[in-house]
Amino acid sequence: AGRSLQQGNGMLVAQKQRGYYMVQIPLTLGDIKAEVFHSLADIVETHGEGLLHTTQQQNLALSWAAESELPELLQGLDTLGLGGSRPAVLRDMVACAGASTCRLGICLSRGLAEALAGELSQDGLDLDSLGELKIYISGCPNACGRHPVAQIGFYGVARRVGSRLVPYYMLLLGGMVEEGKTRLAQPVSTILARNVPSFLVEYLRSFQNSDKYPDFEAFLDGKGRKIAEDLALSYMEVL
Ligand code: SF4
Repeated sequence: AGRSLQQGNGMLVAQKQRGYYMVQIPLTLGDIKAEVFHSLADIVETHGEGLLHTTQQQNLALSWAAESELPELLQGLDTLGLGGSRPAVLRDMVACAGASTCRLGICLSRGLAEALAGELSQDGLDLDSLGELKIYISGCPNACGRHPVAQIGFYGVARRVGSRLVPYYMLLLGGMVEEGKTRLAQPVSTILARNVPSFLVEYLRSFQNSDKYPDFEAFLDGKGRKIAEDLALSYMEVL
């Protein structure tokens, strides 16, 4: 089981009940192919509590997996392409349906999530050091993408530039859901939609380069919000 615990690093959360684990099964923005889902159901039927839960981070979770069954379970998930850990910041990123399928949508929130994941993965950032940073995206001011409780949230807006409407995102910072500490994210600035990935990489780099702050919350309580305001100015305009 020791080897399986290593393999499942990032997928396993020890339960309070000794010897049992919750297995987090990461999906990309909640997507899973029907045939993979059928095969997953076969695995789940014979493991843990035999039930899959959907999570608010658009992933799946199986509880009550005994330590002794982890090697077979993780191997089965691997075979379906559902094994292996991803940095938590990518695993937990959330986006609503967005304008591609939602008639209320203004921006393509899923497209932004994919662009962010690509940019963050390629840009030499230490994603593991970002911990479970929550980045949530909605394609309009409605909150289906849960941006009001994101540490870094975005929602789609349209701004008139000359004679045309241009997609922008409103950036919000500092939301949190935790007992006794829950608070809503506060709006900071609008950013041109196509500039959001570059903005985010530069912003997170400034957080990583400031060793003064132990975590992102401390960064926000310090200079993080002002840094975002200043940085957003250079990502705001249509050139
Ligand atoms: S947040 Fe807006 S765009 Fe996204 S699903 Fe809800 S209504 Fe549609």
